[in-house]
Amino acid sequence: MRAAIIGAGLGGLLAANVLAKKGYKIDVFEKLPFAGGRFTNLNYKGFELTTGALHMIPHGKRGPLGQLLKKLDVKVEILDSKPEGEVLYKDDRKELTKKVAPLRTLMKFYAKSLAYRLFKKDFYLEKFQKSIDEFSSKFLDAFLGWSLSITPNEILFSKFLKIYQQTMKFRGPGIPVGGCKAVIDALIENLKSYDGNVYLRKKVEKIAVKNSKAKGVFVKNQKKSYDLIISNLGHVEAQKLIGRDYLNADLKESRGIKYSIALRQPYLNHTGVLFTLNTSRISGMNEVTNADPNLAPNGRHLLMAHQPMLTTNVKYEIYLGLKDLKRILKSYDYEILAIQSYFDGWPVNRVKAGMDVGIETPYKNLFVVGDGAKGDDIEVDGIALNIFRLGDEV
Ligand SMILES: Cc1cc2nc3c(=O)[nH]c(=O)nc-3n(C[C@H](O)[C@H](O)[C@H](O)COP(=O)(O)OP(=O)(O)OC[C@H]3O[C@@H](n4cnc5c(N)ncnc54)[C@H](O)[C@@H]3O)c2cc1C
Repeated sequence: MRAAIIGAGLGGLLAANVLAKKGYKIDVFEKLPFAGGRFTNLNYKGFELTTGALHMIPHGKRGPLGQLLKKLDVKVEILDSKPEGEVLYKDDRKELTKKVAPLRTLMKFYAKSLAYRLFKKDFYLEKFQKSIDEFSSKFLDAFLGWSLSITPNEILFSKFLKIYQQTMKFRGPGIPVGGCKAVIDALIENLKSYDGNVYLRKKVEKIAVKNSKAKGVFVKNQKKSYDLIISNLGHVEAQKLIGRDYLNADLKESRGIKYSIALRQPYLNHTGVLFTLNTSRISGMNEVTNADPNLAPNGRHLLMAHQPMLTTNVKYEIYLGLKDLKRILKSYDYEILAIQSYFDGWPVNRVKAGMDVGIETPYKNLFVVGDGAKGDDIEVDGIALNIFRLGDEV
């Protein structure tokens, strides 16, 4: 049995490894000259910046991605963050524990969760946000902005509840030693041990379908036949490659801006996330060099900050983000190495968290993986959740 994977992003490479382990002969086609998509490193002046992600795995080694890598015997060292997080509120930094939120707000959340379980009446998280104290409300904005690049009016309570449950079950983040690229390199190495191929600079132009079955892919005008086809590009792009629409939903991407900052002295001094509450845009920061000093030149630190894009005016968003950073880092000697904006064909997520429609398509032998078809969890852990499902279905 032969399988074609369209795209060598994290989702595509995870799918490739799962299927190779099941005995499929794998060909991965990647249009760019490098593998990893939005989850790999970009070396700049000795700093390991990234094509997308903040070098973080939302639930560290315990979560769905950590478990999947272990199951696949893919060798990646993930350092769990300690503390998991802090909050910066009114110029004061506090460790993130359940105790930072007022008990009344927690009780309200549990009451809403119970009511949802009993009556299944759903509503946008914004409605709940309006009923709580200022600190918790700002924390919700920062958590969603950092973890999912969305705001509380974009996610249903039921979907947020699932993400909350996953977070309580698997806890906070971790950083792969070597950064995102270490995960990608290890997946490619493992795939090669099954004689799988990764072809770079090979854009898939079309998915061939006949009688509701996917039959193959066209690369450089040549048809290649396969028993199974996995698209790592999301459902919207899959439709375009097929030439027919099958979606009944309007799937929207999430957008954001990332700042990579060089420091001589560490600002965070730990491996967790700092959620920033009194800002107009920046929702959080991490300092990955506290986990792996090799992600920056000797004696330097790499701080990464992230904001969701709340308007379509990129320049304005960056202006507000830089203003936040200036205030937060006022007594630090820092250099902005890069400002990267993520939208359109290179977004934060191809589908906003909570709006995913699953991995199936109406075509037999064609599945969609990656952040255009996540499970109910944060970012790459959501991707991994649905790769487990792919493994069960195939
Ligand atoms: C700023 C930012 C910060 C983030 N931070 C984190 C984080 O810290 N932790 C986390 O868990 N997640 C994070 N994410 C999200 C995470 O990076 C993405 O969800 C994940 O990398 C998406 O992987 P993917 O495989 O679905 O897609 P992609 O990485 O986009 O892979 C798709 C691949 O397909 C290729 N391709 C496209 N069209 C074709 C074609 N026709 N033929 C062949 N190849 C094609 C592309 O070139 C690409 O390599 C972040 C994202 C951004 C942008």
